[in-house]
Amino acid sequence: MKLFTLFGNPVSHSKSPLIHNSVFNEFGLNYRYTRTHIEDGYQIRDKFFELNLDGANVTVPHKEIAYEICDEVVGIAKKVKAVNTIIRRGSRLIGYNTDAQGFLDSISMFEKIKKVLILGAGGTAKAITSILLENNFDITVINRSQGRLQSFEDLNVKTYTWDDFRVSKVDLVINTTSAGLTDNKLPILKYDTLTEVLKNSRYAVDVIYKTTPFLRLAESLNLKIKDGSEMLIYQGVLANQYFTDFKIHKEKITEVMFKAFYLES
Ligand code: NDP
Repeated sequence: MKLFTLFGNPVSHSKSPLIHNSVFNEFGLNYRYTRTHIEDGYQIRDKFFELNLDGANVTVPHKEIAYEICDEVVGIAKKVKAVNTIIRRGSRLIGYNTDAQGFLDSISMFEKIKKVLILGAGGTAKAITSILLENNFDITVINRSQGRLQSFEDLNVKTYTWDDFRVSKVDLVINTTSAGLTDNKLPILKYDTLTEVLKNSRYAVDVIYKTTPFLRLAESLNLKIKDGSEMLIYQGVLANQYFTDFKIHKEKITEVMFKAFYLES
């Protein structure tokens, strides 16, 4: 039996066990995926070996610590400096970031996207910015406070706070802030400014897995909208490919995960 888990705090409502176990069951693999609530991210390494895991996912708030505790970090995780997928190779832990590719896959159906406005400057904004830059999108980041914008300036991205931002035309606006996650808030308190921002875009995406006030406003202004469910599924697809050593076709994993996710919703 191979064992996998999701490390995070909280983990109780996560759909990761559902989507990963649906693939393991469908393909008759003797693999099991569980949840492990962990307070201190620095315990992930010891816990990983104690549970005799073959792989794991890491979620909020431990992704940056997961980056530190791996023996080797591969691919875009090095740029993002955050790891959400860990694979054991012998006694070594190898770290990957599948959130970035998951986001890119989730917007693949959108047409003619070049200019992208990202609201928020946290870990998810960093992952999305890194993959979009690699794919030659034109990125602007706005955050409510200045502090976290420096690391985006270091990537040569245009950055603003809401005070110095001037609205211009974009193709896609992405909410990566936690506004709307557990409250009814918009990512900016100035309703008129956000309305103006959205009126100047064709698409709006929220990384939260439900229809947030941000998405409701965008939809009312006739933008095409998407919540974070597909990003979650697609990051899971790539993580599952690492767990199953790329032996199952990506399309098959995607099909099984979509079915499991939406049958439960
Ligand atoms: P971080 O804590 O790293 O960053 C949060 C960001 O949101 C910061 O820029 C913060 O601004 C801003 N923010 C928080 N509250 C508000 C508010 N009320 N109004 C305006 N801005 C606000 O979080 P993460 O990047 O890790 O996660 C962000 C969201 O992404 C979460 O909701 C999470 O659930 C979701 N997520 C979804 C995934 C998916 O697969 N769909 C994957 C990963 C995350 P400041 O710097 O000023 O504090």
